[in-house]
Amino acid sequence: MRLTPAELHARATQLQALLSPCRLCPRACRVDRRTGQRGACHLGPLLRVFCTNLHFGEEPPITGSQGSGTVFFTGCHLHCVFCQNFAFSHLGNGVDMSPETLAARMLELQRRGAHNINWVTPTAQVALAVEALAIARERGLSIPLVYNCSGYESVEVLRLLDGVVDVYLPDAKYASSQPAARLSGAPDYPQVNQAAIREMWRQVGPLQLDAQGIAQRGLLVRHLVLPHGLAETHLVLRMLWHECGPNLAVSLMHQYFPAHRAKAYPEIARRISWDEYEAALHALDHYGFSIAYIQEWEDDEDEAC
Ligand code: SF4
Repeated sequence: MRLTPAELHARATQLQALLSPCRLCPRACRVDRRTGQRGACHLGPLLRVFCTNLHFGEEPPITGSQGSGTVFFTGCHLHCVFCQNFAFSHLGNGVDMSPETLAARMLELQRRGAHNINWVTPTAQVALAVEALAIARERGLSIPLVYNCSGYESVEVLRLLDGVVDVYLPDAKYASSQPAARLSGAPDYPQVNQAAIREMWRQVGPLQLDAQGIAQRGLLVRHLVLPHGLAETHLVLRMLWHECGPNLAVSLMHQYFPAHRAKAYPEIARRISWDEYEAALHALDHYGFSIAYIQEWEDDEDEAC
């Protein structure tokens, strides 16, 4: 059940209390963000957004025919060396804006026909983002809210998002600490991610689509296949099956390319091969999730390896 705008304002206040000392994400840096101190995400007290726009590159129930109303937040608390959004997730590009301005941007996206509001990497800014949502809902925002995140989330924060988020779109990146530590600076990612997915599933359950096939509510988990089996796809899918069972929607992605600092890590300095993606597809078949999205393989992708 969706919260009312008044309840959303109250949740935003509770989330803002988690900024000082900051524990909005599992890193729990405990810096005082409200006085301008910065932690591992390098974010301060203000909302910072790279851009807002209609986006057509998500899975079909998110993109639909008219696009997803995407808000790309600046900054990230996870430090993936292969980040494909590093220009704004790690280099800080973006503009500071008030919750009122973000609310107006979200309403504009709805006016342009967006099927949903899609917050990309909102975790470290979720307190003021929920304040913006409260204002936008007061002013007529009615489309679903998609929470598009790395999956490295605090369960305490997620509980405060119960009734706020309609569709969770988290990653499940790793099954083991070693690659999570080396490639994302988060050795506890597997355990944190598992607990987060359990809480998201408890809140929203299976993906629910409208008559046009657009997601209205539910959980859709993304998994990006990495070179040399580093993402341990089979083990990640086993965890998802264990937590959610066959009714979970899963998106298995092969779009990895060595962005940001990945060329400095020999084991991920290339795209994945067809054989690696095929092995991941076999694992997906093995578990038989009721909704699965896969990406088409272009013939020239092996040449790019
Ligand atoms: S949101 Fe930023 S400052 Fe807060 S705990 Fe996470 S990384 Fe640290």
